[in-house]
Amino acid sequence: MAPFISAHAIDWTARIIYVVKGRADVPAILHEMGHVFASRRSPWHSKEFSFFGWEYLLAKELGITRAWAKSNQGYSVGDDGTLYADLTPQQRKRVVQTQILKGIKLGIISKGHVPLTVR
Ligand SMILES: [Zn+2]
Repeated sequence: MAPFISAHAIDWTARIIYVVKGRADVPAILHEMGHVFASRRSPWHSKEFSFFGWEYLLAKELGITRAWAKSNQGYSVGDDGTLYADLTPQQRKRVVQTQILKGIKLGIISKGHVPLTVR
């Protein structure tokens, strides 16, 4: 089981997402869902950025991209420590589009931009 971070945790093997009662945060749940459904590796070995586009597409489907973006302000989007918050809107769009294309290559996103489950 991965430890609670911001009131959310997962049991990756059992595919269970835990939330501290009263502290559910949908973007955080989408992130945990990425670990559970879009990552073939456990949270200890996963490459979290690989399902960033997957998360975005789910947030888009739910109509919460603004909340999702806000929730990811501190997310590291570059090897140099660049944070999502540091990017311009155009750069953010490019990062998301790049990660969607990578997700398609990884087989976690369909060519029609539908997030898929691989576990
Ligand atoms: Zn994570």
